[in-house]
Amino acid sequence: MSQLRVLIAEDDPVSSRILQAHLSKWGYQVVVTTNGLDAWAVLQGSDAPKLAVLDWMMPSMDGPEVIRRLRQDSKEYVYVILLTARSQKEDMLAGLEAGADDYLSKPFDAHELKARIRTGRRILDLQTQLMTVQTLLREEATHDPLTKTWNRSGILDILQRECARAARSEGSVGVVMADLDHFKPVNDTYGHMTGDEVLREMSRRMAASVRAYDSIGRYGGEEFVIVLPDCGALSAFQRAETLREDISNKPVEATSVSVAVTASLGVAAMDQVDCQDYEVLLRAADAALYRSKAAGRNQTTLATPQEISMLSAVIGQGKA
Ligand SMILES: [Mg+2]
Repeated sequence: MSQLRVLIAEDDPVSSRILQAHLSKWGYQVVVTTNGLDAWAVLQGSDAPKLAVLDWMMPSMDGPEVIRRLRQDSKEYVYVILLTARSQKEDMLAGLEAGADDYLSKPFDAHELKARIRTGRRILDLQTQLMTVQTLLREEATHDPLTKTWNRSGILDILQRECARAARSEGSVGVVMADLDHFKPVNDTYGHMTGDEVLREMSRRMAASVRAYDSIGRYGGEEFVIVLPDCGALSAFQRAETLREDISNKPVEATSVSVAVTASLGVAAMDQVDCQDYEVLLRAADAALYRSKAAGRNQTTLATPQEISMLSAVIGQGKA
């Protein structure tokens, strides 16, 4: 177990020495300050302690004020035990109201201190676990488990956000829809394991092909959406062509078989008819993809301005 760092802010040297002695003995790594401003500076620093024992009365800034600041703008939670010579109930309440998690009256008893610190530690551990679970859940809710690309709702969120951003800055966003050609026979002939391998490899090739700030999401079975920020129609089309070549330039070496792959792509961009509706762009890219398929697959088609205008009118009507 890694050593937990604990901040002690206490101007009374005797009390401070006792705190240091106990905490070190119990295996904590101690950071010592003697006034509120220094304590605040330590808590603002990188790798700041997550647990702090703060004296109430200190030079330059008192304990409650340090806590108030901490609660206002700290990203990571710091568990704070407020130390006080005051024993009035209303003082305790004022300390807790300022945001202290717990308090201890001086002179304190070693067992009591140990128990309070242990409680703090337990709460910090619980919080870390919660955040880990939260991160996992968020990842699960927005990503496709097979390809590790964004899932449908994840990529749609990104597309929507990028369209809104581009509308504000009078920029453009390119949308590409890419669909693997003749994928069903791959599954039927070689089985789903091989099909999955092909999809994973296709995702890897796309990820290697696009720019760092482009986003890829699995839209359906073998269909992907690629969002290209700051791309007008021409550069979006060129990027899609590069994608198509990178996807198909060599067969996918699956475990048991080598599978030749190609993809059909459709492209639409915001600057084509000054369309700011992400849904219209997506449908336009889909319509263009359909034309790629109809024209013999393994090609890229750019949506026409007329196509986008027409979809815009239809979808606009549906929304009105
Ligand atoms: Mg003091």
